[in-house]
Amino acid sequence: PHLSAILVGADGASETYVASKIKNCKEVGFESSLFRFPDTVTEAELLDKINSINNDSSIDGLLVQLPLPKHISVQRITETISPEKDVDGFHPLNQGRMVQNLPCYLPATPYGIMLMLEHEGITTAGKHCVVIGRSNIVGMPMSILMSRNADPGNATVTLCHSRSTDLSAITRTADILIAAIGKPRFVTSDMVKEGAVVIDVGIIRIEDSSTKSGYRITGDVDFENVAPKCSYISPVPGGVGLMTIVGLLKNTLRAAKGEVKFSF
Ligand code: NAD
Repeated sequence: PHLSAILVGADGASETYVASKIKNCKEVGFESSLFRFPDTVTEAELLDKINSINNDSSIDGLLVQLPLPKHISVQRITETISPEKDVDGFHPLNQGRMVQNLPCYLPATPYGIMLMLEHEGITTAGKHCVVIGRSNIVGMPMSILMSRNADPGNATVTLCHSRSTDLSAITRTADILIAAIGKPRFVTSDMVKEGAVVIDVGIIRIEDSSTKSGYRITGDVDFENVAPKCSYISPVPGGVGLMTIVGLLKNTLRAAKGEVKFSF
């Protein structure tokens, strides 16, 4: 399998994510290639590169690391990637198929979370799952996957977002609580039911002069105070971030095998 990544600009977090994806490819014996562009690149230049990768039969999967500079349309970039090479699972054709439970590439983060639930043998059927956050890449697809007629899945799902009122009253009823917000330690222990499964998607860099890099990574959940109440909780770092890589690599392997076809 061969994964290609496009990286625009020199954002520190994006550099780190792409570097770890490339490193993980090496670890599992996949080929990888990285195409770098300055943040002055035009949208047309990027679209050209994507089209040439789409037509390159030696490359199985392609991701464009987000965020992109403001002058570039994320939608146009996402929709130009061939859905058969869309190993991030962001293309509307893949997301449409996901909704209908048809063969597709699932978005890597929600896919990784489903694999995590499966691996730990956590029952989801009939449970109340509360997802906080409705982004196209995490919260929204997560809510769909948990409600699909599948295993894991078959949960009763509530999707909360920035306009939800009385959030704590909702989260306290969650058997499975998935936080994908991007606000450090937003989920506090009073928001969590005793025995709940808590999955923390957040990755937030906060300044910390005591570390070599000058920052540390934290999640959306106040781990120290929430963990004692939980039956399971995923840490940050070392939880969903790693599983996202697993989701991406599995998608790349499936792409190399040609498992998802869009032309009939
Ligand atoms: P986003 O900014 O696109 O979405 C955040 C969501 O949180 C929005 O839907 C918003 O409605 C909701 N929200 C914001 N404030 C809220 C509030 N006060 N109450 C309820 N809901 C609120 O973010 P995203 O791309 O979904 O990412 C979320 C977090 O997950 C970020 O920290 C990101 O870095 C992280 N992330 C991690 C991985 C991973 O591999 N672990 C992958 C993708 C994103």
